[in-house]
Amino acid sequence: MKMTLQERDKKHLWHPLTQHQLHPNHLAITKAKGALLFDDKGNTYIDGIASWYTCMYGHCNAHITRRVSDQMQQLDHVVFAGFTHEPAIKLSEELIQILPKNQQKIFFSDNGSTSVDIALKMALQYHFNHGEKRSKIIALEGGFHGDTFGAMSVSGLSVYNGPFEDFFIDVSRIPVPTTENFEAVTAQFTKLITENKVAAFVYEPLVQGASAMNMFDGDLLDALLAIAKKHHVLTIADEVMTGFGKTGKNFASEYLTNQPDIICLSKSLTAGLVPMAITSCTQKVYDAFLSDDIRKGFFHGHTYSANPISCTAALAGIELLQSEEMQQNIERITKSHQEFDVKIKKHPKVKATRQLGIIYALDLAIETDRYGGLRYKLFDFFMENGVCLRPLGNTIYILAPYVITDAQLQKVYQVIEESLAII
Ligand SMILES: *Cc1c(COP(=O)(O)O)cnc(C)c1O
Repeated sequence: MKMTLQERDKKHLWHPLTQHQLHPNHLAITKAKGALLFDDKGNTYIDGIASWYTCMYGHCNAHITRRVSDQMQQLDHVVFAGFTHEPAIKLSEELIQILPKNQQKIFFSDNGSTSVDIALKMALQYHFNHGEKRSKIIALEGGFHGDTFGAMSVSGLSVYNGPFEDFFIDVSRIPVPTTENFEAVTAQFTKLITENKVAAFVYEPLVQGASAMNMFDGDLLDALLAIAKKHHVLTIADEVMTGFGKTGKNFASEYLTNQPDIICLSKSLTAGLVPMAITSCTQKVYDAFLSDDIRKGFFHGHTYSANPISCTAALAGIELLQSEEMQQNIERITKSHQEFDVKIKKHPKVKATRQLGIIYALDLAIETDRYGGLRYKLFDFFMENGVCLRPLGNTIYILAPYVITDAQLQKVYQVIEESLAII
């Protein structure tokens, strides 16, 4: 008998973030379109998390696939050291138009974690090139910046870091600022900066995605950024999750007065089609690497840097982001979440809710650990009802593609509401 995809999967595949002994089964998806995923048995699921915040303009978006397909006939790939091409040049021009005004230079890589590692290396070498050895990085507790060594080091401590902690770079973590702890956090931050050689402060602006969509006040972050800037500590905004419209602005940093020296981008940068990441920086950062001394250059590079296909996907994505249609979609979803919120937050099993743009999260009034059984129970319930949502601990969040229809949104809300009855 013919083996199913799920059976064949088990023979040779090793999935990310998975304890295979406890979770051996993986659902086979055969097709995706708009906000929908289709499995090999003909079931459909609304992609309520946009496949980890990537395909914001919808799966297999015709505009993007057409542009990428054309590019594939023209130029597939060329070494980006010593060579250049139109898609990379055009993308740099388009990004500089929409990024915070102080950003001037674009450095390419392949994924969010790497874009953070590059940002950290840029910051460390920036000071090194200025003749100063600064080795400490400050990060926010509960942050998530990726799984490579640098990115893992600056992420919040996780029980899964055990085997690697001895090899982390030098990082100090401060609590996410709140109105209650603000004075203490500012004092701790200032003390860290004045008593150590701090190279950079890295943060996810306004929303800590992996930390169950933890949202915090921009004014408080702004105050920390002002302190960092005063002490010549480079600021790194990890907008890998928050970038490209999800917060209601193109970038979450736009909500702030103090702009970062370095910005990390990935996930929806390429509209869910192909992997790519970017680390952008100011002229000031870039200039620290200019010298007659070759060693002061930034000797970091990936084989697929600025891949023309990926650049084209990003360009087509930015065109869509700026279209009236997508901007209206963002507004529509934002309003729709607000209406849902009014209703659901009164539910006795809902402890708290929060929203920024199209990102919506609700905390259940139930204690559970982050990877406890509740999330699997809820996940299974959602999937059985045709909605793909991945709760984090006791938090259910929605981060759907901008093209999700009103009817699909209502279905997502309805299934969430029904799930409250089974917990
Ligand atoms: C997902 C994510 C990363 C890591 O990106 P990968 O492409 O998975 O390596 C880094 N930072 C933030 C904020 C993220 O959400």
